[in-house]
Amino acid sequence: MEQIYCDYNATTPIHPIVKERMISLMDTFGNPASIHGIGQEAERVLVESKEVIAEFLNCSPENLIFTSGGTESNNTVLFQLLAEKISNKPERKLICSEIEHSSISEYSTFLKKSGIEVVYIPVDPQGFVNLEELQKEITKNSLVSIIWANNEIGTIQNIEKISEIVKDAGAELHVDATQALGKVAIDLSSLHIHWLTATAHKIYGPRGIGLLYRRAYTRFAPMLIGGGQQEDQRAGTENHLLMAGFAEAINQRKVEMAEESIRLRSLKTKLINEIISRFEFAQINGPIDERGLAGTINVTFHGVENEMLLLYLDMAGISISTGSACSSRTFKASRVLNAIGRSDLEAFSSVRISLGRESTETHVDRLVEKLSEIIGRIRKE
Ligand code: PLP
Repeated sequence: MEQIYCDYNATTPIHPIVKERMISLMDTFGNPASIHGIGQEAERVLVESKEVIAEFLNCSPENLIFTSGGTESNNTVLFQLLAEKISNKPERKLICSEIEHSSISEYSTFLKKSGIEVVYIPVDPQGFVNLEELQKEITKNSLVSIIWANNEIGTIQNIEKISEIVKDAGAELHVDATQALGKVAIDLSSLHIHWLTATAHKIYGPRGIGLLYRRAYTRFAPMLIGGGQQEDQRAGTENHLLMAGFAEAINQRKVEMAEESIRLRSLKTKLINEIISRFEFAQINGPIDERGLAGTINVTFHGVENEMLLLYLDMAGISISTGSACSSRTFKASRVLNAIGRSDLEAFSSVRISLGRESTETHVDRLVEKLSEIIGRIRKE
C-alpha cells in the first residue's frame, strides 16, 4: 500500500540532496573548537553553513546562533526575562498571542508563575493578532513574541505591521518563524526584529538543529553555559554535520520554494473545494487565501471524532494530524482552535492536513476518496 504523508507541519522527510551532503561529511569528525587541522575542517563547515543561512535571511552570520531546534530557540528568548529577574535588572513584560506554539505558551506560564507579567493578545476568527490590543498593551519594556505562521491553522501574521508597532513603542520583538522559514520570504534587514526562531526539520533538513537570530547589541544571557562555544552564546560542542544539513536544506529551498508554493496552493484549493462540496458539515479553519500557508488545511468535520478519523486514515495509509504534533498525544482541546472561537467539541472534530514537496494531485484525490468513505462510516456508527 502506498503511504501518503500529509503531516509536513509536524516534520518533513530529509531532502535527498541534504542526505547526500550529510553523508559526505560523516568522516569530518573534528571538534570545531580544536585548533588543529582536523578541527578546523569542521569549523569551516560551521562557518560556511552560517554564511548560507545568513544570506538567505539577509542578515550577518555573526547574528546567528545554532541551537537544537525551535523549542530551544524559543525558550532561550523567553529565558531572557527570567535571567533579568534573577539578576535584579528592571523587569520586562512578555506580550504574546493566544496562538503561540507550546514552546512559547508553556514557557510563558512558567514565567507567570515566576512573577513575570505576561499578557496574551487575542486573535480574530482567522487567527490574526488583534493589532489594536497589541497597541494598547505594548510598553517600552515589553518583549513581544509572535508566531509568524501558525503550525495548526497556517495563519501568516502581518509581521511587517507588527514590527512597526513594536518599533514605535521602542520594545523588542521575537518572531517564531519555525513554520514560515522556506515558505514565506524573510528579509531581516528590512524588519525591526530582535530575535527569530527557526528549525531545519520543517524544511527537509535534519532533526535536532535550529537557529536563533539575535539582532546586534540585543541584551543576552545564555541559557547553556560551558565551553564558550558560539561566542559564549550557546555552550556545547557544535554539530557541524547537522549545521551543514540545515544549510543544504536552505540551498534547496532557494531552488524549490517558489514553484512549490504555487503547486501546494493549487492542491490546497482543490482539497478545500472537494471538502466543501462533499461535506456540508465541514468548516475550514484559518485563511484560505494567500494569508494562510500554502500547504496547511485545518478542517472541522462536525460530528466526527478526529482521533477516530486519524486512525482509520492511518489504516488506509494516509498520515494526517489532529493538531500540533506536540499536543496530539494529550487530550486537551487545541488552544489555537479555541482561540479562533471553536468549542472543545469542535476542536475534537478537527484535523490538520499539511502538504509538502512530495504531495501530488493523486494524493489529494485518494485522501478525498478515503475521507468520504471513512466519514460516512463514522457518522453512521
Ligand atoms: N514553533 C513552531 C511554530 C513549531 O511548529 C514547532 C514544531 O512543531 C516548534 C516551534 C518547535 O520546533 P522543534 O520541533 O524544532 O523544537
